[in-house]
Amino acid sequence: MQRTYISETPQKIGEQVTLSGWVHIRRDHGKLIFLDLRDQSGVIQLVVTPKSPAYEAAQALRPEWVIQVSGTVKERPESMRNEKLETGNVEMNVEELVVLNQAETPPLPLDTEGLDIDEEVRLKYRYLDLRRPRLQRNIRLRSELVQRMRSFLFGQNFTEIETPYFSKTTPEGSRDFVVPSRMYPGQFFALPQSPQQYKQLLMTAGFEKYFQIARCFRDEDLRADRAFEHTQLDLEMSFVEQADVLAVIEAMIITVAEGMGKKIKEKPFPRFTYQEAMEKFGADKFDLRTEEDKQNGVLAFAWVLDFPFFEKTDDGGYTFTHNPFSMPKPEHVESLLKGESIDGIMTQQYDLVCNGFEAGGGSIRAHKPEILKAVFKVMGYTDEKIEEDFGHMLSAFSYGAPPHGGIGMGIDRLAMILAGEQSTREVIAFPQSSSGHTSVMDAPSEITSDQLKELGLQVKKSE
Ligand code: ASP
Repeated sequence: MQRTYISETPQKIGEQVTLSGWVHIRRDHGKLIFLDLRDQSGVIQLVVTPKSPAYEAAQALRPEWVIQVSGTVKERPESMRNEKLETGNVEMNVEELVVLNQAETPPLPLDTEGLDIDEEVRLKYRYLDLRRPRLQRNIRLRSELVQRMRSFLFGQNFTEIETPYFSKTTPEGSRDFVVPSRMYPGQFFALPQSPQQYKQLLMTAGFEKYFQIARCFRDEDLRADRAFEHTQLDLEMSFVEQADVLAVIEAMIITVAEGMGKKIKEKPFPRFTYQEAMEKFGADKFDLRTEEDKQNGVLAFAWVLDFPFFEKTDDGGYTFTHNPFSMPKPEHVESLLKGESIDGIMTQQYDLVCNGFEAGGGSIRAHKPEILKAVFKVMGYTDEKIEEDFGHMLSAFSYGAPPHGGIGMGIDRLAMILAGEQSTREVIAFPQSSSGHTSVMDAPSEITSDQLKELGLQVKKSE
């Protein structure tokens, strides 16, 4: 069988073709049966006349049945064209119809935008929810976004490298998800909050331009723009200064967004110091768009630079504001090494803001062991603890680590903004619900007592 995609039918007027897809809508007009057939490329109107050998089979059809039809593509008369459909100038006269599968009546409507349907129902039946055209568009837009980023970066000589998901606890300011080890009862892997340490090890290994579309795992409270796992364009470069990283990312964003038909408010992206942003907007994330920009889907990017390295903790100590692996500004390296004037130490950290969201963040890194060590000292780590947790990084840096820096860009948020959606759940195929359960499979769930035993674990029911 030579299958034709629905989107190709306007070029096939007068031809005999075979289409496959789902019954989107069915309408009976007197004796004629009209069907809208949907495949991944679009929707077309099918007509089944009482004379057609397929008539009887067509009478039994219900929405979401899966069918294959053969017939002739006809140009519709001028007055019967449907401007809303890309195939609106044609229809198909069905001569042959095969039912490939029947379908129960869907438990949720699929011919609406779906935004007013209860989230639990949408996610329980996500495989149906995803059939709606809005989500089909969103998921494809996300795929295009990633494809365009990849092709830009390959054009700049980057290497795409995967790093492990089974790893060690990482300090990125969030709680870790941990995985118990069967072979070493009582020991745990941690899922990476980001590939931060691995990408720095890759710089040490001589891969001077690295990127990866990486999954990051963080056990945080959920929000419309935050889930337990998120996807990040993770990138790192050697022998660079802040200006080099910003230039690559800015060029990539402009190429990708404009390639996808978006308008960017201001180029080059405006820059604010953290202090300026706080004074002007009261926050380090802000929206530079006017009401008119918002209506027109304009993207307003801005860089925020010069963050304080540390902030005070409730118990009077210090913690990092963004990333413990960052390099202080050159004029503050001395203070860091001496552990003095901590509040005044600024880091070479940069955040990218888009339409009120943090779209990405990164920094120039500490590439010398003594600088990294000094950061953990400020945070009150003992020598033993530093060695235990970060000995591998200190060791790596002692073998000729190049100066380096990079960034992590949130793919879910960028896709959400590009799609004009309000929640990242609208651009993730199988997102978690706002109550922290997974789509369709409804994890987390209990495991068997045998599994627990094998892992050397015992669950204590909380009182
Ligand atoms: N590791 C950082 C993050 O995940 C990004 C970076 O600094 O490259 O937020």
